[in-house]
Amino acid sequence: MKNETMMQYFEWYLPEDAAHWKRCIQQAKELSEHGITFLWLPPAYKGQAGIHDVGYGVYDTYDLGEFDQKGSVPTKYGTKEEYIAAVRTLQKEGIKVLADIVLNHRMGADQQETVMAAKENWGNRFQDISGEQEVHVWTKFTFPGRKGIYSDFQWNWTHFDGTDWDEERKEKAIFRFHGKEWDLGVDEENGNYDYLMGDDLDMGNPQVSEELERWGKWYLDVTEVDGMRLDAVKHIDCQFFCQWLGRMREYRKENFFAVGEYWSPDHRRLLRYLNETGKCMQLFDVPLHFRFHEASCAGGNFDMRYLLHDTLTAADSWHAVTFVDNHDTQPGQALQSFVMDWFKPLAYGIILLQEAGIPCVFYGDYYGIPHNGIGPVTGLQKLLKLRKSHAYGPQHSYYDHQDIVGFTREGLEEQENSGLALLISDGPGGSKKMYAGKRFAGRTFGDAMEHCSEKVCIDEEGYGNFRVEGGSISVWIPLP
Ligand code: CA
Repeated sequence: MKNETMMQYFEWYLPEDAAHWKRCIQQAKELSEHGITFLWLPPAYKGQAGIHDVGYGVYDTYDLGEFDQKGSVPTKYGTKEEYIAAVRTLQKEGIKVLADIVLNHRMGADQQETVMAAKENWGNRFQDISGEQEVHVWTKFTFPGRKGIYSDFQWNWTHFDGTDWDEERKEKAIFRFHGKEWDLGVDEENGNYDYLMGDDLDMGNPQVSEELERWGKWYLDVTEVDGMRLDAVKHIDCQFFCQWLGRMREYRKENFFAVGEYWSPDHRRLLRYLNETGKCMQLFDVPLHFRFHEASCAGGNFDMRYLLHDTLTAADSWHAVTFVDNHDTQPGQALQSFVMDWFKPLAYGIILLQEAGIPCVFYGDYYGIPHNGIGPVTGLQKLLKLRKSHAYGPQHSYYDHQDIVGFTREGLEEQENSGLALLISDGPGGSKKMYAGKRFAGRTFGDAMEHCSEKVCIDEEGYGNFRVEGGSISVWIPLP
């Protein structure tokens, strides 16, 4: 048996050198050795800012770095050939590749159109703040650089519900197009959060759903990726992904892995979305990220008993993809809520060594973020190794103290020397008696993080008295 471990293989400020797919090829072996089994790659299609686009400003989903559009042939990450080569190399190393699928919006249209539209209140998108007026909007996508290769589909305003820029008046506002209504199966923030940015796709238009289905099949055929990370799902009618994912899985004859980004700190909304979509995907455990962030900022005053409180991990661990940070939470980004340095090893210790959820390691934590002078997270590689070698078997949790909490894993007979006892503290150091497992009676444990130098003897009942330093993490493992 193998522990699944995901990695988000990009951060926001990667160099704009079209060399990322090549780096990925070079790193594939090392990533596999570190136990990575899923690699989430950034959006591979041409964005409106060309080589400068991180990938979410989607322009042409059929251009994977193949056509001279938006100022260059390659995307920020490289060419189509290099992308495919990276996917194949990873697969050869036993790593499954997740494609980043951005279907909510389009940007960087080729031509303007004139359309009637009503202005909406930013804070309540059900409320018009103007009557319909004529606006000049960037909504016509003809892809002149691609010249109809792979698809002759062209987008126009009727495929969208609205946009946020009137070229005529140079006015930024949410414009809802004539005869359009926002899709209803979306998050209720701002009244209705269908609209996020750019030209918002009208999922209720059959031409749109048919085109997205054609494209999805094309993408799966061309790339043969193993699964998907779905962007901005709270801004897309929940019924859409039930159908679309269903069709894609039918097409591939495989119930492939998918994880959605539903950005909400409220676990009840995540649970609701899972129910509404028939649990056809996993979700990132956003509430858990916020617990980590809050605890890291509280300087020792966070009540650690509640670290997993109201998270997806606690409520439905089977559907949770746990993470510490990502490209949106890193410094300078839209949802900035970067977990502080000192707490990162503690947070990673939890997600990598606990039984619940599939952990996702952030590129910026693994390699650092040179743009912000941030180095790799201390001990992260060690924790990844521990996940691979020791994090097996039943878990016993001890979220029972305001500072010092932890858990043990009993290990499995078939995984030689597996089993562990994790202890973290956001305040002073101290110790806790935890059940390591009866099979360890008489054995000694040592701290693999090398913060505590003593040995711990496991008593006849399988208990050990484990210790942790202040604001630190210790991972006790059976000594040979
Ligand atoms: Ca939308």
